[in-house]
Amino acid sequence: TSKSGNNFVRNMIAEQIERGDHVGEVVTRFPPEPNGFLHIGHAKSICLNFGLAEHFGGRCRLRFDDTNPEKEEQAFIDSIQEDVHWLGFDWDGHVRFTSDYFDTLYEYALHLIENGDAYVDELTSEQAREYRGDWNTPGTNSPYRDRTPEENLAAFEKMRAGEFGEGQASLRAKIDMAAGNMNLRDPVIYRIRHASHHQTGDQWCIYPSYDFAHGQSDAIEGVTHSICTLEFEDHRPLYDWFIEHLPVPARPVQTEFGRLNLNYTVTSKRKLKRLIDENVVDGWDDPRMPTLAGIRRRGYTPASIRNFCETIGVARTDGVVDAAMLEHAIRDDLNNNAPRAMCVLDGLKIVITNYPEDDVEQLVAAGHPNRDDLGERTLPFTREILIEKEDFREEANKKYKRLVLGKRVRLRNAYVIEATDVVKNDAGEIVEVHCTYDPDTLGDNPADGIKPKGVIHWVSASHGKKATVRQYDRLFAAEHPGRGDRDMLDDLNPDSLTVYDNCVIEPDLATVEPEYRVQFERIGYFVADRHDHAPGKPVFNRIVPLRDTWAK
Ligand code: ATP
Ligand code: MG
Ligand code: MG
Repeated sequence: TSKSGNNFVRNMIAEQIERGDHVGEVVTRFPPEPNGFLHIGHAKSICLNFGLAEHFGGRCRLRFDDTNPEKEEQAFIDSIQEDVHWLGFDWDGHVRFTSDYFDTLYEYALHLIENGDAYVDELTSEQAREYRGDWNTPGTNSPYRDRTPEENLAAFEKMRAGEFGEGQASLRAKIDMAAGNMNLRDPVIYRIRHASHHQTGDQWCIYPSYDFAHGQSDAIEGVTHSICTLEFEDHRPLYDWFIEHLPVPARPVQTEFGRLNLNYTVTSKRKLKRLIDENVVDGWDDPRMPTLAGIRRRGYTPASIRNFCETIGVARTDGVVDAAMLEHAIRDDLNNNAPRAMCVLDGLKIVITNYPEDDVEQLVAAGHPNRDDLGERTLPFTREILIEKEDFREEANKKYKRLVLGKRVRLRNAYVIEATDVVKNDAGEIVEVHCTYDPDTLGDNPADGIKPKGVIHWVSASHGKKATVRQYDRLFAAEHPGRGDRDMLDDLNPDSLTVYDNCVIEPDLATVEPEYRVQFERIGYFVADRHDHAPGKPVFNRIVPLRDTWAK
């Protein structure tokens, strides 16, 4: 039922093919840095890049952009591959790494030096900043800028051999210190890092910059369309400069699109890491995190994320998407596909005084209101059942369509009952409610014509199974967490997690597998937790309530 949003990149490539400006395969890549888990913003880039390859019958590479060894680790490499697969995509051939090309990139650096297009600079970082100027002041040439190629080759060899400390030297492209575009003011292409690398170990102590590595890696891989977010628009002249000045095997073209920003959340690895470091959440895959691992654990389906990305479309401008759209996508999916069941979160005991003490009746209910393929379920009905505490009142006005003393209500998929007495403890709290049931009301109205006003859910007290239910909500209560001078931690939603550990569920639900999704009737959509749920020890996470509770 989801709509297709406009996708200007798809249209652009279709036109290129039609005009004959693009011939041959469309090759894209998704290039994450393995310095954290992927988040919902990355899903947009994944769906775009892999989606284009699918659409045009081309290929999409997965390339780890691994030029910052200190921030990267194997655990992130593993999680990223798992998440891309989970979303339903597969990359072309093997997993690639920018570090696979370190030798070639080094050769390219030598090529620039030999042509007088790069030099080793030994300004301190503070001096370099001063020499750089700013947007309305042209920069000044470094005194090292006029070194001969021979001097530069020797100095670069010293950099590679580890004879400089970090920050003492860098290799810079020789472009234009007065360029209006700051990215062209002799950008750094190699810097010194005495750090072990997860792929290349201690082989290198110099690492290429993003700008130098990215386009050349695209070219080496035969990428035709290098698609990135808008903040790289000003880097495109540099991307093209390298491609023009190097003997690269192909000429990829960079195209920028607007990144996905979602309200009520943050999508920046740095901010997500802070939430973990400050124990706001339980880790990268906490079900409240906008990471793909968190969203998966929360119970979202891959199809719902793909539909969401298709619906929001791809534009050349940044925008903020309403979190409700993401929630809508999963609700839409689960409304059609999730079987129904009953769960009582906070139970109140009902004793049906005219129901025989040891009888158990197996009532039958549909697995889904309009999906016969989801079969039927059996609901044991017994003398003692549980309903939600909030579904009973001693007295209430006409708007309250649940159980009231002296009045009737229908038990969902079962009989009509009437409340006759309440039993209270010494503190005056209601501990149980006595009711009578009408045995002729299974699928029928009472014979006396007095219809119940509402329908409530219930579970057999003796045959239902205990479960833990974690009711998750949005992590932030503010639409734009941390906007302006605010600290995002002041914008947290204090009710992002409510744990109910005394819930009772239909007996069959106790044995479902992790990641089983279900609608608890009248409450919301839930998933058996991927890690903490085990058959016999049920733990469910709320994915979304049945309706948008945040709508203004
Ligand atoms: P962060 O700012 O969270 O650290 P990043 O852009 O540094 O993100 P990368 O691992 O470099 O993260 O991203 C891999 C790819 O995903 C890049 O092509 C990047 O442009 C894209 N991407 C990252 N965030 C978003 C987003 N919010 N919307 C769309 N694409 C994104
Ligand atoms: Mg990046
Ligand atoms: Mg980043």
